[in-house]
Amino acid sequence: MTRLFNDPAAFADEMIEGFAAAAARWVQAAPGGVVRSTTSGTDTVALVVGGGSGHYPAFGGLVGPGLAHGAAMGNLFASPSAQQVHSIATACDTGRGVLLSYGNYAGDVLHFTQAQDRLRAEGHDVRTVLVTDDIWSAPPDRIEERRGIAGDLCVFKVAGAAAEAGYDLDGVERVARHANDRTRSFGVAFSGCTLPGADAPLFDVPQGRMAVGLGIHGEPGIDEVAVPTADELARLFVEKLLEEVPAGVEAPGARVVPLLNGLGSVKYEELFVVYRTVARLLADRGVTVVDPEVGELCTSFDMAGCSLTLLWLDDELEELWSAPADSSGFRKGSVGAQQRAAAVVLEHTEQEIGAASEASRRAAATIADAFDAIVAVVDDAADELGRLDQVAGDGDHGIGMTRGAHAGRDAARAALEGGAGAKTALDRGAVAWSDRAGGTSGAIWATILQAVGAQLGDEARVGREEVARGVRSASDAVMAFGKAAVGDKTMIDAIVPFADTLAERVGAGEELASAWDAAAGAAHDAAQATADLRATLGRAKSHGERSIGTPDPGAVSFALIVRGVHDRVLAASSSPSAQGE
Ligand code: ADP
Ligand code: MG
Repeated sequence: MTRLFNDPAAFADEMIEGFAAAAARWVQAAPGGVVRSTTSGTDTVALVVGGGSGHYPAFGGLVGPGLAHGAAMGNLFASPSAQQVHSIATACDTGRGVLLSYGNYAGDVLHFTQAQDRLRAEGHDVRTVLVTDDIWSAPPDRIEERRGIAGDLCVFKVAGAAAEAGYDLDGVERVARHANDRTRSFGVAFSGCTLPGADAPLFDVPQGRMAVGLGIHGEPGIDEVAVPTADELARLFVEKLLEEVPAGVEAPGARVVPLLNGLGSVKYEELFVVYRTVARLLADRGVTVVDPEVGELCTSFDMAGCSLTLLWLDDELEELWSAPADSSGFRKGSVGAQQRAAAVVLEHTEQEIGAASEASRRAAATIADAFDAIVAVVDDAADELGRLDQVAGDGDHGIGMTRGAHAGRDAARAALEGGAGAKTALDRGAVAWSDRAGGTSGAIWATILQAVGAQLGDEARVGREEVARGVRSASDAVMAFGKAAVGDKTMIDAIVPFADTLAERVGAGEELASAWDAAAGAAHDAAQATADLRATLGRAKSHGERSIGTPDPGAVSFALIVRGVHDRVLAASSSPSAQGE
């Protein structure tokens, strides 16, 4: 239970503000998260980490000498937006390049990749190393699909130490990848976590039971067993992780760093009781323990649970793991004197709104009305969307869509008032949507809006053909960006039939409103039909079987939105006088 908050929607922002004030010795706030408040005086490769908030000390608490240079801090359990990552990476790059490192979650991958593309286009040398330590999230033959959990710290620590030691970007990338290849984790949970203001946890673990293979965002466990004793849990951890020793390592004689991580409400004392047996079992197997960590290193709000991570060392990894580091959430050795870094200038680039034709401005007014409709629909459906996302995802789809839709609407309205045409109104709405929503669906809705905008432009008169083409191009753009196809149980399953039906009806000469009406019907049917499918992509893929019987939340919200845009905007404007637009 989270007891102390003001407005739940402001929780993450207020937390970051307080954190930056409390941890000023290490960090300063910057647009998108935090960067170091100190400098060692030498330019190094920059390590930029990040992810949703709610995992302290990940990610802001891992910024400091010997560790990360900056952290993009998203909303609670929601990926930071591409803008946030871009802004933090820009603030950190001293010209020696940037390594982006973060846990492998669909939303984070979409946003960080967008940011990387933008940074590269601007001339920054940027690389990415995903953390994939959670052995329960995919089998060994699909290791690259695994999620990142507490093993994040192993990869960040090694990369941060390499940067501090003066490695170039190739070298930092190489050791970070190597550390990830050598890191394996396994987690369990005894209860779910409850986000501020929520009246129920994101998932329940029945009394006396333990979920095995938990995620760190309230994704439910993959298996469930009776709660073991501390010794039995230690044995489960060690045996399972020793079945997964990385290629090229022999357990007897190996040197390993164990991290026993508390997820939020398991006490240090309980962890020590578990660790006692972890240490003994590792020794029994001939494994030498180096510099272990027991404590809260990557949490999941107030979740009762813990995980064991093993980092299998070689000489280079051992030297980098053991090097000094100093951050608010993790310290090792002594980093020596640091100077205050220059304050990051809060960038504020209010871009001017470009010229637009009268016709395009009229279309922008309709677009702003459509945003109002989206807000109304999403506000109404938010709880239900959250429940759908809870079945196999992390329960935040309603929250994310609400944040995104409101921000998108406000930005589009502001653009309209500034004289924007259709493209500019949609672009501004898209940027604000993805920035505030975070998450997978935030990145995808931004893609949809931008693709439609690119077809409409700021000059042309917007008629039904342009709208149908815009929707088609949005559907193509989402598939290119998210790499989902029809049948993967994502919102693509609703977008494609919507685009097909709209194109077909408009092509046959039907008015926009009635063509859209039919297309919204097709989207609705297709969204409901996703209940029969098994999720294979996105966050829900780890729980594919569980998703059968429940429709995909993103497909359902898409169908509700296009229905709302018809009923509240298009149907109303298709009075005889407004025909043809
Ligand atoms: P997150 O998964 O980051 O928590 P949301 O819960 O807001 O984000 O959105 C989940 C929805 O995103 C899913 O229901 C699905 O419709 C959509 N989605 C996930 N991955 C993809 C993808 N690769 N392509 C298209 N849509 C996707
Ligand atoms: Mg979600």
